[in-house]
Amino acid sequence: MSQHLQPLRGMNDILPDDIHWWQWVEDTARRVFAAYGYREIRVPILERTELFKRSIGEVTDIVEKEMYTFDDRSGDSVTMRPEATAGIVRAGLSNGLLHNQQQRVWCTGPMFRYERPQKGRFRQFHQLDVEALGFDGPDIDAEMILLSARLWRELGLDGLVLELNSLGTPESRAVYREALVEWFSRHRDALDDDSLRRLETNPLRILDSKNPAMAEVIAGAPEFGDYLDDASVEHFAALRTMLDDAGIEYRLNPRLVRGLDYYSRTVFEWLTDRLGAQAAVCSGGRYDGLVTQLGGRPTPAIGWALGIERLVEVLRLSVGEREATVADVYVLAADDARERETLKWTEALRDTLPAHRVLMHCGGGSLKSRMKKADRSGAAYAVIVGGDELARGELSVKALRGDGAQQAVAADGLGAWLASRLPATG
Ligand code: ATP
Ligand code: MG
Repeated sequence: MSQHLQPLRGMNDILPDDIHWWQWVEDTARRVFAAYGYREIRVPILERTELFKRSIGEVTDIVEKEMYTFDDRSGDSVTMRPEATAGIVRAGLSNGLLHNQQQRVWCTGPMFRYERPQKGRFRQFHQLDVEALGFDGPDIDAEMILLSARLWRELGLDGLVLELNSLGTPESRAVYREALVEWFSRHRDALDDDSLRRLETNPLRILDSKNPAMAEVIAGAPEFGDYLDDASVEHFAALRTMLDDAGIEYRLNPRLVRGLDYYSRTVFEWLTDRLGAQAAVCSGGRYDGLVTQLGGRPTPAIGWALGIERLVEVLRLSVGEREATVADVYVLAADDARERETLKWTEALRDTLPAHRVLMHCGGGSLKSRMKKADRSGAAYAVIVGGDELARGELSVKALRGDGAQQAVAADGLGAWLASRLPATG
């Protein structure tokens, strides 16, 4: 038996039969982002390891055990990006885009995390990511959330639940941290190894544990809400009022801390109940301290990222499988002798139908097998080149969906004839 090469674990091929889901999501996102004044930014996949250590935080799952890190040929430690925000902030600083400026940007592409692959969790996955830098008020927080809600609407997706929390300022978090340390120290026996370590290094992370055995001790822990500073309380209340005004429903979740260290104040997640433990489709929050952490001047910022694989999976489950066609018009020669003319007429149709997919039959075969391929392509019409019609300057057109009527149409006018009958594209 021949041994085929397999992809690496957790790395997926996205095949032509599935790509329409991706393109639908990406095209819709592009349109919605543009409508809110967000512009695309593209940043490298490979960055200095230092960037992610400094931004995401040393004591996080990502930096401790999930990064694809290696030395390049000059011995510099580099890492394949596990998320986009760090690279975008780095790009903003490298290019002088942040100082006394406001930026609304979005980004898409592959991210890499060495995780245990399972449904909705991969080692190469893709994100759509939006960031707003230089804004400190709750209005931009609301805009960010409305932007995501509009995206779900445009995709016809309902059933996602929005969870909200506030992580306050670093000062109020320090006070809360002490309260947490006290609580978890009193319940050491209930902690797993990861959490025992985090108790020393980063106790907030314990709240983010996905170990079911820890659920009870986490449920009893003090809540951040009781430690929030006044300004953060006010910011959070204003955001909630704006969401109420906009008719956006949400659930407050005092345990929502998110997996990255850099968040402050507003954090949120859009959750699904359809992907098992991989519930988060879109996650985000405010990261007012990150720009200074990376060497810039104080710049408030907020962003979110959605996992495209998870979103596509949820769409498949809720919208239902959609038929993927490869052609709108399928052009075939009645017999081998007509192939030259077929190429000519196919090109002419592509001139007049630039927005439609005009597929030419290649590879010979009987008329019957050619028609079968035409049908399978999903095209609305087959154009048959040959026979008496061609001698009269006409081509034969067969409707492949519906009544299957066949008729002769003047070859020169065929493009216009089809254009008026084919569904609009885009
Ligand atoms: P989770 O709690 O599921 O591990 P996360 O908090 O690590 O998610 P973020 O770092 O905020 O996720 O990334 C934003 C989004 O990217 C998530 O909401 C999710 O949809 C997606 N995502 C994160 N990790 C993966 C992965 N390994 N495979 C597929 N999608 C992922
Ligand atoms: Mg994670």
